[in-house]
Amino acid sequence: MFGAIEAGGTKFVCGVGTGPEDLIVESVPTTSPDSTVAAALRFFRRQKPIEVLGVGSFGPIDRSRGWITSTPKTNWKDYDIVGAFRTALDIPVEFDTDVNAAALAEARWGAGRGLTDFVYLTVGTGIGGGAIGNGHILHGAMHAEMGHLRIPHDRATDPFPGCCPYHGDCLEGLASGPAILARWGTPGEFLPADHAAWNLEAHYLGLAAANLVCIMAPQRILIGGGVMRQPRLFDLIRSELVELLNGYMSAPDLVAPGLGDRAGVLGALILAELKYSQDSSR
Ligand code: ZN
Repeated sequence: MFGAIEAGGTKFVCGVGTGPEDLIVESVPTTSPDSTVAAALRFFRRQKPIEVLGVGSFGPIDRSRGWITSTPKTNWKDYDIVGAFRTALDIPVEFDTDVNAAALAEARWGAGRGLTDFVYLTVGTGIGGGAIGNGHILHGAMHAEMGHLRIPHDRATDPFPGCCPYHGDCLEGLASGPAILARWGTPGEFLPADHAAWNLEAHYLGLAAANLVCIMAPQRILIGGGVMRQPRLFDLIRSELVELLNGYMSAPDLVAPGLGDRAGVLGALILAELKYSQDSSR
């Protein structure tokens, strides 16, 4: 039995099980580290004992230390999340970003099945991305931060300065759900399908996709998250991407993730499983 946590900004999705067909899940609200961790621990103590815990967390994170680092959520800044669970449960804990975990789950059970190289992007409250390269999560000196790609921003057509607290008009600052709300005064879910917001949104996501294609040549790009609930977006982004690549390279398929809201917690379960097989092969 493995334990899994998708640590998000509004809730921690906790799970115990072995896979999509065998998973007990419960969410606890993300408040202060002390009370959120305590609530998650109460869940795990009510379940069958687990041998390893996998945590996929909002970032940025420091994987080697097991910390959440420079997050704008101030009470979680420099928080030793791995240490908190490892000490309380007395089991090994594997740690990665929520989007890398989700990409792993999509690779095994979702829209990335059978692929060796793809990108998973989520466009919602923030923008995050994880990549599978040659069948493995790509890690560099830290983890990828695709949400903070710098993309061209024409202030004559879009005077909105962007809302990223670190960069202003990075991708997340221009194209996240909060950016749509701040620019148009209405949340994306209430904007009509023919609103100018969607062409602009597709333009920014198309630029991001073009950069990812040029850097990684993914076989497919999975795009999920709340903003993508506007059904026109996929076609609009696809047109932007094809136009931007301009025949120099072919555009990969853009598809919705296959696992919906469960990708993060299922990916955390895979993190636990990978840690378990790594430790037992030593
Ligand atoms: Zn940024």
